[in-house]
Order: sequence, then C-alpha cells, then structure tokens
Amino acid sequence: MSEIWERRLEELNKNKLSLAILPTPIQKLDKLSEELGVNLWLKRDDLTGIETAGNKIRKLEYTAAKALSEGAEVLITCGGIQSNHCRATAAVAARIGIRSHLVLRTDEVSPLEGNYLLDKILGAEITFVTRRQYATERNEIMADIAADYEKQGVKAYVIPEGASDGVGNLGYINAVKEITEQEKQLGINFNAIVSAVGSGGTYSGLYLGRKLYALDKEVISFNVCDDEAYFLDVCSRISKDTVDTLGLPIEVSREDMHIIDGYKGIAYAVSTDEELAFIADVAHKEGVILDPVYTGKAFYGLYQELKKGNLKEYKNILFIHTGGLYGLFPKQEQFAKIFL
Ligand SMILES: *Cc1c(COP(=O)(O)O)cnc(C)c1O
Repeated sequence: MSEIWERRLEELNKNKLSLAILPTPIQKLDKLSEELGVNLWLKRDDLTGIETAGNKIRKLEYTAAKALSEGAEVLITCGGIQSNHCRATAAVAARIGIRSHLVLRTDEVSPLEGNYLLDKILGAEITFVTRRQYATERNEIMADIAADYEKQGVKAYVIPEGASDGVGNLGYINAVKEITEQEKQLGINFNAIVSAVGSGGTYSGLYLGRKLYALDKEVISFNVCDDEAYFLDVCSRISKDTVDTLGLPIEVSREDMHIIDGYKGIAYAVSTDEELAFIADVAHKEGVILDPVYTGKAFYGLYQELKKGNLKEYKNILFIHTGGLYGLFPKQEQFAKIFL
C-alpha cells in the first residue's frame, strides 16, 4: 500500500508536461578533479533544450501543467531583463500554444540581446519596470496585468519569480530521483549535490528530494544575491508549501539546509573581471561554458572553498549546471577587456 503523498506525487508526475530533454547527462570534470583533489562531476541541466535550456524548465513542466488544467490562455511571469526563467516561460507558452507576458526589470533602455532578444523572438508581450518597482510591487503589477486579461475574457495564470513555489519545487524533487537512478548506472554515490540559488526553487526541490528519499548526501547552494538568512527563510517557506500541499512526511528545518554565502560578488548579475576570467579558464580546461549570473559564481565559490581545504569530507561532488549561456552575450564588452 502506497502512502497518500506517494499517490499524489505520482499523479503530479504523470500529469506534468514533457518539455525538457531528460535525463540530462552527468560528466566528470577530469582536470579540475585532479587539480582540487576531489571527484567533481557536472550534471548538464544546461542541456534540457535550446529554447528551454536550464533549470527553470524542470519547474515549468509542473507549473504549466497546472496552468493548463486551470484553462490558462496566457502565462504571466517576471524577472530581470536577462532572465532565463522568463525566456523559458516564453518558450513553454509558445510550445503549448498559449500567450506569454513578461514583466522585465531594467532601469535603462536595453539593447535587444541575449535572453531579451529570445523573449521577443518567442513572441512574448513585455512590460518593463524599474528596479524599484520590481522590488516592491512586482506581484501587484502581475496581478494588474492578469486582471486586464481577465477583463478581455482571457484566462491568465501568474507564475512567481523563478517559478519558485510549492509547485515549482517538484521539478528538483524529480531531479533527485533522476540522479539516484544515474548513480546506480554509474556505480557512484554522490556525497554532495551543489548548485546556485537565486529564487530558491532548485535548492528547495533538492532539499526536499534528499529528505523524502532519505539520502545520505548533503545538498549545498551558493547564493548569487541577498544572503544566507534570506535564502534559509525563502527555502523554508516554499519547502513547507510543498510539504503541506502533498502531505509529505518531512520536517522542514533551517538547521539542515546548507547555503554558502560570500560569492555573489559585486551584485546580482554584475560580474567581476575575475569571475569572467574563471569562466574562460573552466571553458578552456574542460570544454564546458558556465554562465556569468549563476553557475559562474556558484562554481567559483565551490572552487575557492575546495582550494581553501573546505568541503573535503565530500569525496564525490555533483555540481548542477543550471544553464544560463545566453546571459554571457551581453557581457561581450567586459570579456573584450579581459582578452586584451
Ligand atoms: C534561475 C537560475 C538559477 C537559480 O535557480 P533558483 O531555482 O531560481 O534558485 C541557477 N542557474 C541559472 C542559470 C538560473 O537561470
């Protein structure tokens, strides 16, 4: 007899949309492993699809299924001007034949490049807001846009920033299951799963998956904005949301979450020359390209921690490459300085 939560989760997994290319491969980083004295592996969630590349599609498979079940005709969501999540949402909407409306944060007139260019190509409607408006009233702005659609008889569905909520968390609970199946095939036990944290859904899903399947591994995230306390709050809140909705037999506690602060650099989405040079160094050594906003900073953090002799208790480390390649292109001027 399966438990109620198991049947609910099974039902959600059955009903989710199948939009990502899964399972994503796991590859060893030979040169860096040797240099750092650990076994370092990469899970290529940047390979979930060209238009849908990255981690957001794992969450959106569940979120968009829910939206469709409620009759949604337009997906509304928000993010920075170069948001990977907004681009993935625009791609999902086009794939399932409905509209998308993005609330993008920028204080300047932005050149049509990177993810923003892809948003337009994918046919998204765009509303620009300032940083200040975004910080204080993004949810109200999205609610107003939804109300306008509803007035015209168009059913709207609002997805929170990053699709990080109780539903979106399911994406990385499922990824944990995928990882355990790959561990069996590869004959490896990963002692730690490491990722970047930006809006919290990826970390929360990994955390819940680890607890749900009682896995003997640590899940660790490096924050790319805000700080440790902020993400312990956010991840506890949205994890509890999933636990309550599904009735999962899990005690959510900040004490067993592991966020490492100190590597967000100058600010969210702003790179130091050193971070960009690190991305180029990893690309040269391993043939893998990290992104400047998330994986470049988080992997740099992991690299620095290992160099300092920290985290050495984890022999086999799996870093999740959560995507973001298109965010590199708006950095061309800064890269040009580095390559001089
Ligand atoms: C959004 C994003 C993250 C962070 O994931 P969250 O679930 O928002 O914490 C990491 N990497 C990339 C490339 C992203 O786009």
